[in-house]
Amino acid sequence: MSLKLDGKKLSLEIEEKLKNYIYINKTIVKRNPGLAVIRIGEDPASGVYVKNKEKACSRVGIKSFIFHLKDTVEQKEVEELLNKLNLDNDIDGILLQLPIPKKFDEQRLISYINPKKDVDGLNEQNIGKLVKNEPAMRSCTPAGIVNLLRSQNITIEGKKIVVIGRSLLVGKPISLMLLNLNGTVTMTHSKTKNLNKICREADILIAAAGKPNLIDASFVKEGAVIIDVGIHRLTSSDKRKVRLCGDVLLEDVIPKVFAYTPVPGGVGPMTVTMLLVNTIYSWQKQFGLSSTLNDLLP
Ligand code: NAD
Repeated sequence: MSLKLDGKKLSLEIEEKLKNYIYINKTIVKRNPGLAVIRIGEDPASGVYVKNKEKACSRVGIKSFIFHLKDTVEQKEVEELLNKLNLDNDIDGILLQLPIPKKFDEQRLISYINPKKDVDGLNEQNIGKLVKNEPAMRSCTPAGIVNLLRSQNITIEGKKIVVIGRSLLVGKPISLMLLNLNGTVTMTHSKTKNLNKICREADILIAAAGKPNLIDASFVKEGAVIIDVGIHRLTSSDKRKVRLCGDVLLEDVIPKVFAYTPVPGGVGPMTVTMLLVNTIYSWQKQFGLSSTLNDLLP
């Protein structure tokens, strides 16, 4: 039987450790860690993600500050808010909830975030440190995937790893993290030829194309590990039911693999947990607290 990489269970275990860490250390530093989340516009999925992050913060003892801006706001105003939060001593982490409306220069806004508070790990300085394999905050979804693999002692070193997708959010950083951990990584994308054949060589296959059910059993080697990053809401033809699925046609693939991540309950919860880890990492650095988190930041 194949092994389910249960992100929900692991995230609750990590949260328990984070909660204790905050509980012990807040008596020393006299304040809880603080996370600012900026949401722009009315994208409903973003609304759900921000709510989940807020709830996760309150479970472990991080104070969250939610800024929900209208999409009529100007780029300059968001930059000013970021500058203010950069200087705010009660804020350890700043997250810009993506995607944001197209009229904004997303990369410029991310560059405005103080790298020490860049809990999404997307600022040039943190990406640069990832390229150089130096310690820093790591982007949440890829770091969550590495922790899921490690939690079941799945070997990365020397393994053939194929990543589908080359986005700054997922494909590139997960490829770099796995490369830093001595995997042999192939990065693929929408212009890749013979994707099916390349994927069939993978010991570990990471699907982050953002295409529902793209990967069926024909893409997968017998005994491989498959990580499904995609998340899609599919509405039934009568529009009555909404079902979540990933990039992987799981029912087809599960009988063939050694291990897989479910959707929901796989990569998603780990992404939220890594946001908490990064926020506490920043808090811990600011106050020179002892660290037990470095192992979680690949
Ligand atoms: P993106 O659209 O920015 O990037 C998609 C990448 O996939 C691109 O590099 C593109 O070249 C590649 N691609 C597209 N179609 C392809 C195809 N047919 N074959 C090969 N490559 C193809 O998306 P993203 O931000 O990287 O996110 C990818 C998916 O992961 C989305 O479904 C997103 O919702 C999901 N996601 C989930 C989490 C989570 O926590 N579970 C976090 C981030 C993103």
